Amino acid sequence: MAQPRYQGYCTGKPTKLVKEKFGSANVYAQNAKSLLTKATGFIEAYDFTLNPYRGCQYGCSYCYAAAFSPNTKMRQDWGNWVIVKENAAEILAKELQKWYEKNPQNPPRIYLSSVTDPYQPLESQQQLTRRLLEVMLDVRDNNHPTPTLVIQTRSPIITRDIDYLQRFQRLRINMSIPTGSESVRRDFEPRSPSIKARLNALLKIKQNIEPFKGFVPKISITITPLLPTLATDELAFIQQLSIADRVVIQDFHPTYNRSLIASTRSEAEEIKQKYAWWYQNQQLNYMKFKNKLISQLTNIEIKEGKDGFGYE
Ligand code: SF4
Repeated sequence: MAQPRYQGYCTGKPTKLVKEKFGSANVYAQNAKSLLTKATGFIEAYDFTLNPYRGCQYGCSYCYAAAFSPNTKMRQDWGNWVIVKENAAEILAKELQKWYEKNPQNPPRIYLSSVTDPYQPLESQQQLTRRLLEVMLDVRDNNHPTPTLVIQTRSPIITRDIDYLQRFQRLRINMSIPTGSESVRRDFEPRSPSIKARLNALLKIKQNIEPFKGFVPKISITITPLLPTLATDELAFIQQLSIADRVVIQDFHPTYNRSLIASTRSEAEEIKQKYAWWYQNQQLNYMKFKNKLISQLTNIEIKEGKDGFGYE
């Protein structure tokens, strides 16, 4: 079957039109054939990954998801295009129905999302992730338990959906905060929300979901990959992490000659040069940071890599 051709990223006649612009991103609309994808690798503990969008406006320099772009030009322009899976809610409803027919009392474990941010800025307009949550909650009408859900995001837009989040019996929110220094964040992921905005979002969730209002979600902060934090920010950052139940750390993606490794994007590798004071002794600095987490966050679960991404 012919590959779709996206306006702005192909020569000749495109088969997909630009639907609109949102900020600097070209937004395309497409119908997905399926939505729930078998989870593998780092998140194989889940049954499925769920990605409402292809592409991500945050365009982080180290993002491995760029490797899943539809073509090389779009991979190079990672962060400047998004494909909205317009029929996502209908497809998810059908796929869940199929699952529950076979497993009426055994809910699927779903990781939202593995190759996009489900709460990137466009979500404030599209409300696609919100509709997916609604579909997952609707299974209760047929007396099925709601999916075990993990939401991976770096966006405060998640707080818009607190009304739905508190209705999931088994929910973990993974907030990505790879550094405690705003200047480092601006270098590696200049389009993403500030560290303060992410921490405030977690605070808002904690303040607004109380046991008498619904189920209380588990909260992780994922420092993945662990970026440098300036010495002047480190103590305050570690203290702020105590808002979570779990902190997950992970090395910067290693430089292998494989297309799915984030560091093959030259952008992140170039930025790393600026932080030679950290990366020249990366292993040692990683261990030192980990030890500080363990000694200072005594009531919080500290996990590494794959081990930290599970629901439990
Ligand atoms: S927010 Fe996540 S998916 Fe989006 S660019 Fe950054 S790392 Fe990639």
